[in-house]
Amino acid sequence: MNATPQADDCLFCKIIAGEIPSDLVAENERAVAFRDINPAAPVHVLVVPKRHEPNIAALAAASPEDLSALFALVAEVVQQEGVAEHHRLLFNTGADAGQTIFHAHGHVLGGTTFTER
Ligand code: 5GP
Ligand code: ZN
Repeated sequence: MNATPQADDCLFCKIIAGEIPSDLVAENERAVAFRDINPAAPVHVLVVPKRHEPNIAALAAASPEDLSALFALVAEVVQQEGVAEHHRLLFNTGADAGQTIFHAHGHVLGGTTFTER
């Protein structure tokens, strides 16, 4: 069995496999962080589990270890990017919530002042 299940035709699985280039920010055994191609803030990093699950709740159900590693990487990224004290962490689930890539990922947003909720 593959330790980090991947899905065919998944953009983030292809980025994780190195088949599509990305601007890598940090990585651990179970997760990768790379810059969003269309940044919504001066710091906009996607934190992505290597395991393919469609959303964050599915990841939590399937593998607490992967969930934990994802948040450990978030902590590393916000330190590295200088936004540890001021950032947003956003997980979209479902198309109606704005999810466009159905491989779980968190958005780390920072480097600006957020006024909207
Ligand atoms: P979602 O809308 O699913 O929460 O977030 C998907 C994010 O992936 C979007 O912010 C979008 O800009 C980003 N994205 C889409 N395609 C690519 C790509 O090929 N490379 C990178 N680095 N980000 C991408
Ligand atoms: Zn995937």
